Amino acid sequence: MLEVSNLVKTYKDVRAVDGLSFTIHPGEIVGLIGPNGAGKTTAMRCCAGILRPTSGSIKINGHDIVGNQAQAKSGLAYVPEVPSLYELLTVDEHLKFIAMCYGTLDVYESRKDELLDRYHLSEKRGDLIATLSKGMRQKFSVACALVHRANVLLFDEPLIGIDPAGVAEIKQEFLNAKGEGASIVISTHLLDTAERLCDRILIVSRGRLLFQGTLDTLRGGKEATLEQLFLEITEGDQGAPPPMA
Ligand code: ATP
Repeated sequence: MLEVSNLVKTYKDVRAVDGLSFTIHPGEIVGLIGPNGAGKTTAMRCCAGILRPTSGSIKINGHDIVGNQAQAKSGLAYVPEVPSLYELLTVDEHLKFIAMCYGTLDVYESRKDELLDRYHLSEKRGDLIATLSKGMRQKFSVACALVHRANVLLFDEPLIGIDPAGVAEIKQEFLNAKGEGASIVISTHLLDTAERLCDRILIVSRGRLLFQGTLDTLRGGKEATLEQLFLEITEGDQGAPPPMA
């Protein structure tokens, strides 16, 4: 479970995240959507323990990401938009290294062949990470997230640059993880994907939450796509956050 309470993150004079509160329950896929500069990546990076929140609290499975980082991170996987990988390890070495870091060598041993097969990386297992294409790096990052038994999964634009078969496989992977009880957040600009895949939607703009709930609630009985509703709700509220007073 991921619990975010009144999260604020400022960069010098920009209030990039301005009081976000939400909870992601086990077995739930939630879409984090918003215009460019809305604060999605900043919020994700705070949840992943990469950025220190200015104020507010973030708990991963009940463990505070600032006060109890090791425990919190043991249940967390974060796949950034541009995965940062160890370029001079081979695919197999890298997967094993991640498992060693998280103490899940048993998962590596039992799942490595299946995971590399599933993402069509078996033939690349002895190749350096530096030689992988952009899409292969994305798929490999998802495999890394799955090798350490995380149950809070954060994906920042996970489907960009991946071929159609890969997109279908990764979407299926999200559904599998959901079925296993994971709490999943996907930040995306692909609103048709969010519409089909997500149980709930969070709409942020200028660092603030404009809506959270199911698509049905957002529709309020209207016949409308998520794209139409998104444009309606964010109209006049786009752009960078206001500078701090
Ligand atoms: P996009 O959809 O374009 O990826 P986003 O919703 O992920 O955008 P963020 O990257 O979180 O938005 O940026 C939110 C705000 O914080 C923007 O105004 C951005 O310019 C600012 N910002 C982000 N990173 C920094 C930084 N390191 N230093 C200063 N300002 C930053």
